[in-house]
Amino acid sequence: MGTTVFERQRPASSVVQHSLAATRHSVFWRDDLPESLTPDRPALAGTVRADLVVVGGGYTGLWSALLATERDPAAKVVIVEAQRVGWAASGRNGGFCEASLTHGSENGQTRWPDEMPTLERLGLENLDAIEAAEARYGMDFQFERTGMLAPAVEPHQVEWLKDWAAEGEEGVVYLDRDEVQAAVASPTYLAGVWEQRTCGMLHPGRMAAELARVCEERGVEIFERSHVTGLDSAGTGVIVSTAGGRVEASRAVLATNAFPSLLKRNRLMTVPVYDYVLMTEPLTADQLASVGWSGRQGIGDLANQFHYYRLTADNRILFGGYDAIYHYGRSVRPEYENRPETWEKLASHFFTTFPQLDGLSFTHKWAGAIDTSTQFTAFFGTARERRVAYAAGFTGLGVASTRFAGEVMLDLLDGVQNERTELEMVRKRPLPFPPEPAAAIGINATRWSLDRADHNRGKRNLLLKTLDALGLGFDS
Ligand SMILES: Cc1cc2nc3c(=O)[nH]c(=O)nc-3n(C[C@H](O)[C@H](O)[C@H](O)COP(=O)(O)OP(=O)(O)OC[C@H]3O[C@@H](n4cnc5c(N)ncnc54)[C@H](O)[C@@H]3O)c2cc1C
Repeated sequence: MGTTVFERQRPASSVVQHSLAATRHSVFWRDDLPESLTPDRPALAGTVRADLVVVGGGYTGLWSALLATERDPAAKVVIVEAQRVGWAASGRNGGFCEASLTHGSENGQTRWPDEMPTLERLGLENLDAIEAAEARYGMDFQFERTGMLAPAVEPHQVEWLKDWAAEGEEGVVYLDRDEVQAAVASPTYLAGVWEQRTCGMLHPGRMAAELARVCEERGVEIFERSHVTGLDSAGTGVIVSTAGGRVEASRAVLATNAFPSLLKRNRLMTVPVYDYVLMTEPLTADQLASVGWSGRQGIGDLANQFHYYRLTADNRILFGGYDAIYHYGRSVRPEYENRPETWEKLASHFFTTFPQLDGLSFTHKWAGAIDTSTQFTAFFGTARERRVAYAAGFTGLGVASTRFAGEVMLDLLDGVQNERTELEMVRKRPLPFPPEPAAAIGINATRWSLDRADHNRGKRNLLLKTLDALGLGFDS
């Protein structure tokens, strides 16, 4: 088997050890929120009546609630959140806000080739709507429409980039070695593609907190520390219950992401996969100058096991990805968020990428669960005679598409037929993952194969080719 650049150009272990010596296990985006954006909200108690109850206070739930108030300003909307607003994936992610509704255009092309022009247009409209909502509601989630840079870090990836650029998509610019180095200086970069229109960077914690603030200003009631354990039909409506109370509502949106679904039919549809992140201290002006990066693009390299990295408003670098860890039994547990071998691997890959930043320290490390589905992007549906709508399975790309999912769920509850609800992507459910032990065996065999492909000039083995042919797979 070959090696990757991260093995060929490993930094000294003292550089890695030093960088992690004082790193706090804590989510930077949460620590960075002003107190005014993290009010303590009450738990659900007694009986509350509503037109719409939303279970889950991440982006999917928050956008659904906000959009519901836009559609009907008089509607009474309630959000019931098990812990705190935005504490899970929505407050922990990389903040890459991408237009793609299909986890990248390649995935979309293979699954819904006929729909791709519509999906791409709807995705761009959705991204524009997020940017516009920030201004319209006076939110500040530090949105920067920087685009995204995909550098080739292995020779075979240069050909992939050339093929991509040759497709002639608007806003896609090929950068040769000198040009990519002028954009962002890394000895690992051999070429790059800069997708200029389809991605923005934002502060994930602020987006969740600001959405919650605006929802409340528009009359939405939010309950925190209220774990929903029951979802029952009652008359023409539904009842959502917690240990301390219940919401009786006409309709419900389920926005519970990687956590166990309240609907049995969705229990096998996703698996939680852990993704890990490091955050550096702020770079000095000299350190930043040594990297360049004046375009402040989000960066994602091209391997199956990829890294994503970006600058924050105060010029830290967030560096995440690569390892995507599944734990037997689909479990989501706090102890899975600590993985020293992954922090060390990420730190090592960071200094391979930016050796000029030798001496820099990481201030924060954290992890979060993503909800992987076999089609790598959300699936949708209704239950209980169309009184309940759900969306899940965003895999690692839900910062923008959760807003689209909110629109779709409200459309489905309203029974509207439109461009969104007529999409095959919306109408057809993907295949589930198998139950254990097959899920763990299959996922780990796929991960092993993806790692081998990254070490073997991207060549996919028989298992991966079979999965490709079946439209199945595993991604983060
Ligand atoms: C480390 C990491 C990096 C990522 N990076 C990116 C990125 O850069 N770009 C991108 O597009 N995507 C990224 N993602 C994915 C993205 O964050 C998610 O797709 C998105 O946040 C999903 O939002 P959500 O509201 O569906 O889920 P969540 O934010 O997980 O919210 C679900 C909420 O439901 C609540 N809940 C669950 N069950 C119940 C219950 N029974 N009762 C009450 N409440 C319940 C939970 O407490 C939780 O708050 C990343 C994810 C992770 C973990």
